[in-house]
Amino acid sequence: MQNQNVKIVYAGQLIDAVSDQVQTNVSVIVENGRIREVRNGKATLPGAEIIDLSESTVMPGFIDCHTHTTFQLDKGRALTDLYLTRNAALAIEATNYVRRTLLAGFTTVRDVGSANFIDVSIRDAINAGRIPGPRMYVAAHILTITGGHGDFSCGFRDHLIEEPGICNGVINSPGDGVRAVRYMIKYGADHIKLAATGGVLSLNDSQAGEQLTIGEMKAVVETAHMLERKVAAHAHGNEGIKNALRAGVDSIEHGTYLDDETIELFNETGAYLVPTISAGKWVEANAKDYPPSIAEKAAGLGTLIQEAFARAYRQKVKIAFGTDAGVYPHGNNAGEFQYMVEAGMAPMDAIMAATRNAADLLGVSTIGTIQPGRFADLVAIEGDPLADIKLLRNISFVMKGGQIYKRDGVMNVEPYK
Ligand SMILES: [Zn+2]
Repeated sequence: MQNQNVKIVYAGQLIDAVSDQVQTNVSVIVENGRIREVRNGKATLPGAEIIDLSESTVMPGFIDCHTHTTFQLDKGRALTDLYLTRNAALAIEATNYVRRTLLAGFTTVRDVGSANFIDVSIRDAINAGRIPGPRMYVAAHILTITGGHGDFSCGFRDHLIEEPGICNGVINSPGDGVRAVRYMIKYGADHIKLAATGGVLSLNDSQAGEQLTIGEMKAVVETAHMLERKVAAHAHGNEGIKNALRAGVDSIEHGTYLDDETIELFNETGAYLVPTISAGKWVEANAKDYPPSIAEKAAGLGTLIQEAFARAYRQKVKIAFGTDAGVYPHGNNAGEFQYMVEAGMAPMDAIMAATRNAADLLGVSTIGTIQPGRFADLVAIEGDPLADIKLLRNISFVMKGGQIYKRDGVMNVEPYK
């Protein structure tokens, strides 16, 4: 039959993320999972399936550049939990988290830290069609110093468990960095994540304190780039952010204490800021649930991160959408849009951060916009997100690669096959 693999989506409003102009009354023609054409009016083709979203706003599927799909550290769980939970249990939980993420309209995520290559397996299961979930780009283990933010054995007594080494992402020299990057890539990493400074949910480090040296980070970046992988740097403290930028990382995650000089460095290097305001707001609001050393670091954090983001945005730093899902419960990723707009970002810029910019940071040219040749990753809401950004929390339609996962607000696929 003619056009049997063709679906035509009628879009009342279309934000294609190619331009910042909203189009009205257009048809997105999808063939074999890809966008074939965007046409004015209500197109018809014999044999094609019509999906009528003429009362909705259609956008590219959203991309969250900072997620941890293999765990959820709510209810006071700390990173130590990754050493207390069996891999199978983490993987089972992850299948729920990725499904929730997809149904929230996030058709792609960048995972920036997991344990024991569970993220690699989840990614592969999604790609093979075994479980529903977003397209995933994964980092495997975070590269960190002994006792640093990504050393999940912190909090245990010495010699209780085998001391983590480069296979767990723990590095203590440039040479270790080279080996760890190659190791992560060998076992499936799409990009590299490093911890330039301490973190909030790690038990015994200072959040703002520097961790990896600039020499270690340079070795990591050089090795990763040679292997055509980008590098994301977790960094709260200003010195750590600067060192990471000077080492050539592609994005700074969090950026809590950045100053004007640092903003200049961002604009010189062209690195992205991935704000993760959601994580700051969540740990601040739930500080009492965490161990005391973490609760102390969480005080005021949401406001600090949001203000850092606002300064960076005003001074034209490139922003890619990222939330730190897994710090807060998965599936609430779209809350970040509201925090960004609250901080002064134009709603269209917030949508661009989660589509075109995020795809650019990932270095993937098949997603992020609605134009011929791209994957048919489409989401829709009822109403106008530019008038009310909160509407993005109520995604009514999700298509990934031409397959519909949610329609009229209802999940449209068997959870497992
Ligand atoms: Zn994170």
